Amino acid sequence: VPTPELSVVVPVYRNAGTLRELHRRLHAALAGVDCELIFVDDASPDPSRDVLAELAVADEATALVALDENVGQHRAVLAGLARGRGSWSVILDADLQDPPEAIRALLERARAGDVDAVFAGRRGEYESSSRLRTSRLFKRTLHLMCGVPPDAGIFVLLSRRLVDRLVALRGPAPFVVAMVGCVGLPMASIPVERAARVNGDSAYSTWARAKSAWRAFVWVAAWKVGAAR
Ligand code: UDP
Ligand code: MG
Repeated sequence: VPTPELSVVVPVYRNAGTLRELHRRLHAALAGVDCELIFVDDASPDPSRDVLAELAVADEATALVALDENVGQHRAVLAGLARGRGSWSVILDADLQDPPEAIRALLERARAGDVDAVFAGRRGEYESSSRLRTSRLFKRTLHLMCGVPPDAGIFVLLSRRLVDRLVALRGPAPFVVAMVGCVGLPMASIPVERAARVNGDSAYSTWARAKSAWRAFVWVAAWKVGAAR
């Protein structure tokens, strides 16, 4: 089986309302690109899995990875990356906050051949101003700690060799952006307008966001002392 140029990896938790439109927009945005779409259902309590099963039956480019229990966004992403075979892989949110139309620009940037990761640098007023402020502070800190671009989120395109490194990493609870930074292959970011959520609430409460940020710092610390490789 020839390997596709691009694997699209989407972690899914309670996104039944956006999956059909996301699937349609991915195919429209990637017309002419040889790609596979991998949706990882992180044990959603809503009908996400049924919608994805339907999409996977109707479209041979679409695959469903169905997790038995909720493992969180980062482990779900790593399960999808491990399943993908593409020369490049791109990760994006299932709630349409990350515009699928931007993937082509990430791929164009990657085709220049000098980097292993191209981040969609976050732009716009995509969440409340208090959340934006704390996100920016977190991102600046992560930038200083592990060298990822200061506007980096998890909407990122990765080379095959970087994906192979990421899925083999050991260590504490994973945090994908920190892991990309620590591996230390060349990175770039291009500005991408991030959309506000149109449907449902963020899976992350304030407390969950704080825990998630803490896990990122723990992951980098573990890497620096050699406990995460
Ligand atoms: N997600 C997941 N497992 C979880 C929580 C979230 O796979 O336990 C996915 C979710 O479906 C979405 C992405 O992670 O695709 C980001 O979640 P969300 O949009 O709720 O977070 P935010 O954009 O507010 O950071
Ligand atoms: Mg979101």
